[in-house]
Amino acid sequence: MCELININTYHFDHFLLDMDGTLLDLKFDNDFWQETVPQQFALHKGYELSVAKDILFQRMLELRGSLRWYSVEFWSDETGLDIVAMKHKSKHKIKIRDGVIHFLRRARSSGCRLSLLTNAHQSTIQIKFDQTGIGEFFDDVVCSHELNAPKETPQFWDRVVSAIDLRKARSVFVDDSVPVLEAARNFGIGQIFHVVKPDSSRDAVFHESFVNLDGFENITFSKNL
Ligand SMILES: [Mg+2]
Repeated sequence: MCELININTYHFDHFLLDMDGTLLDLKFDNDFWQETVPQQFALHKGYELSVAKDILFQRMLELRGSLRWYSVEFWSDETGLDIVAMKHKSKHKIKIRDGVIHFLRRARSSGCRLSLLTNAHQSTIQIKFDQTGIGEFFDDVVCSHELNAPKETPQFWDRVVSAIDLRKARSVFVDDSVPVLEAARNFGIGQIFHVVKPDSSRDAVFHESFVNLDGFENITFSKNL
């Protein structure tokens, strides 16, 4: 089980937050990429669904963690499908994780700066902001496609420093991807939390080398400890 985590805002006053799987339920993305896209790809190419899945999942495995893996333009070219239009069609399934809005309000009223750091493509960010309203809470939105490096790489973190006002020792980073968390730790982010249940329909997965977070309601704030 995860414990309550107190953020001492005297030491930490900047949250760097991932979007998919951290603020938003990853069930949308998992269903979209593992079911909707293969189904439409199979129809488009005249393949059996199992063949379409084999082709797509093999390609995804090869590209995992790269910018192309996160690019809707790349996958539109690769499949011949209009991925952005398909996301628009499914957008009613995008869900904010429990406790997120309340947490964002509490972080703001505790005087924290809020930055979104995401590997999501610009068009996807817009759809998710429009659908959920979370965009209004952020001082900064950093998209890895604009920095030309995914969050898994040291280049991304070097470029974040010139993109936003970041004092890494005073920052708290929250993400559900272990390779991304490792890159943030190597860069020297002061406090790092691992989201244990990014997809509400799947089991929680704990990681022994990070502080595990199973809900934003477990984060409390104080001025001094
Ligand atoms: Mg994520």
